[in-house]
Amino acid sequence: MERVTVNDKSLSQRQFNSSESASKISMPEKCVVCNSSYVSFVKELPTKQNKIVDLFYCMECESFFSPFSLPNKVSSQLEWHKSVLDRNLEWATDLLTKIQQKTSIDGPIIDIGCGIGSLLLAAKQIGLEGIGFDIDEDSCIYGSTKYNLKLVGTYWERSNSPQCGLITCISVLEHIHYPRLLIKDLVNVAKENKCYLYISVPFLNRDWWKFLITDNLSKGHIFEYPHVHVTHFSSKGLGTVCREFGAKSLDPLRAGGWFGFLVSF
Ligand SMILES: [Zn+2]
Repeated sequence: MERVTVNDKSLSQRQFNSSESASKISMPEKCVVCNSSYVSFVKELPTKQNKIVDLFYCMECESFFSPFSLPNKVSSQLEWHKSVLDRNLEWATDLLTKIQQKTSIDGPIIDIGCGIGSLLLAAKQIGLEGIGFDIDEDSCIYGSTKYNLKLVGTYWERSNSPQCGLITCISVLEHIHYPRLLIKDLVNVAKENKCYLYISVPFLNRDWWKFLITDNLSKGHIFEYPHVHVTHFSSKGLGTVCREFGAKSLDPLRAGGWFGFLVSF
């Protein structure tokens, strides 16, 4: 049988060298978003470090995911957070203003993945209190000291959650290989506190599928860092999992450059 010729041998080895090797691809048993068994292998995505990340797809909720990529190292993102502070302050003010137009925020805001506390600083400027959680301790220490915010350098979960009047989780879930447990906690805590939950991720819906066949290492590509963004939610997928855990409705809400859903109960 004629071999397929591709330029990069490291990429071609597993898929094309023999019919045997193709069967060695490890398949996830379930979709990491909706838990469906209808999952399919999509393709190998190269990284800039010459590694390979396997991309899978859920036929049920239309999310994409790479659960077998290596865990991301916990590293300080302090300089990044500082560089986008002004932008995030503007977006956060827009977000909080829009939420306040729908409901009063009665109680502290919990911000998951708070970084240096940009969102909570924006909240403070309009008279709202909050507490932030982030595993990036450097950023938490910087934000706590410089802006006198309550930022905790640890994982947030249901068991260590204070009472709240709003939960925000922005640009976090796409980094998590198995996000269902965190989503379950987010939904449950928001439900217990009878408050809104705002979730924003870079959604991957059908109109972005065209990027599956272009060079993923090009600048700004949705799969430019396939080992960093490991779960690519479709809007349908996020809706499915939130409703499974008790959410009643999800309303789309754009604030600055963030697009997400305001989850209610
Ligand atoms: Zn799914």
